[in-house]
Amino acid sequence: MSDVRNVIIIGSGPAGYTAALYTARASLKPLVFEGSVTAGGALMETTDVENFPGFREGIMGPDLMDNMRAQAERFGAELIPDDITAVDLSEDIKTVTDSAGTVHRAKAVIVATGSQHRKLGLPREDELSGRGISWCATCDGFFFKDKDIVVVGGGDTAMEEATFLSRFARTVTIVHRRDALRASKAMQDRAFADPKISFAWNSEIAEIHGENKLSGLTLRDVKTGDTSELAVEGLFIAVGHDPRTELFKGQLELDDEGYLKVESPTTRTNLTGVFAAGDVVDHTYRQAITAAGTGCSAALDAERFLAALG
Ligand code: FAD
Repeated sequence: MSDVRNVIIIGSGPAGYTAALYTARASLKPLVFEGSVTAGGALMETTDVENFPGFREGIMGPDLMDNMRAQAERFGAELIPDDITAVDLSEDIKTVTDSAGTVHRAKAVIVATGSQHRKLGLPREDELSGRGISWCATCDGFFFKDKDIVVVGGGDTAMEEATFLSRFARTVTIVHRRDALRASKAMQDRAFADPKISFAWNSEIAEIHGENKLSGLTLRDVKTGDTSELAVEGLFIAVGHDPRTELFKGQLELDDEGYLKVESPTTRTNLTGVFAAGDVVDHTYRQAITAAGTGCSAALDAERFLAALG
C-alpha cells in the first residue's frame, strides 16, 4: 500500500494537467494518472488549435498538450501513463487502483476523465479527423469558409452546429437517419429558416472519401438502400458524447446524461474531498479553455479543502 498523497488527479486533458499545474505549484505533489492510450486527452486527436488564448499563430493540439504536461511536471507533478480501473471515494482516505492492481491513496481526488465523442465507426474516419472531419463547430468552423459541408445528427447539438457553421460555409447539408428531428422546436425552426441549410432525410453516411483530406461522402437512403455521392470538404459529426464516468457510478452523482454533478459554481461533487472538472462535468461548453478553467477551480477547491483539514 502506498503512502497517503494529498491529491490524486485522474485524467490528462486540459482539465487534468491544469489541476496538476496548480496543485504542484501549491506544493501538494499531485499524482496524475494520465490514461494509457489517450494521455493528453481529446486535443491529441486534432491538428491546429486556434482558439486557446496565448498562441497567436495557433498551436497543434499535441504540442499544446505536451506543453501543459511539461509545465505541470516542471513544478513537481508526478505523471503516470496508466488507467485507473477502480476507485473507492467514500472514506476520508480515498483509494484508486491502477491497471497493475496497485492501490494508491489520497486525501483528495480530482476527476478529469473527459468525454468521448461518438464516432460513426466508418473506415477513414480517424485518419481524416482534423483533415475535414470534425466534432466541434466552435473549434473548426472558421476553417470551412465558403465550403460545402455536412453535419450528421438530428439533435440540438447537430442543429446548433449547423446554424453556427452556416455563417462560414457555402452550404450545410444535415444528414439524419430519420424523417424528423429530435432537436427542440426552437432549434429546428432556426435550422429550417436558414437558407444555407438543407436536409438529407432518412439517410446515413455509408462511406468517407479522400486521401489526405476529406473530398466527399457516399450517402445511403436507409429505407430504399439507394446510394448517392456528395462532394464536400467538411463533415461535422454530432451524434452525441459519452462522459467517462463508468468508474464512478454508484459513488458520485451523475445527471440524466451520465455527466458528473458538481455544486456549481464550485467543482465539489457529492462526496467530500472529491472534485470534478472539464468535459466529464460540462456538456454545454466543451472547450479546451473551459476545461482548463475548471481544472484550475478544482485545484483551488482541493487546496482549500486540504488546508481546512490542517
Ligand atoms: P479530455 O481532453 O477528454 O481528457 C481526459 C483524459 O482523461 C483522457 O484522454 C484520458 O487520457 C484520461 N482518462 C480517462 N479515463 C481515465 C482513467 N480511468 N484513468 C486514467 N486516465 C483516464 N477545444 C478547443 O477549445 N479548441 C479546439 O480547437 C478543439 N478541437 C477539438 C478537436 C477534436 C478532434 C476534439 C475531439 C475536441 C476538440 N476540442 C477543442 C475540445 C477539447 O479537446 C475538449 O473540450 C477538452 O480536451 C476537454 O478536456 P478534458 O480535460 O475535460 O478531457
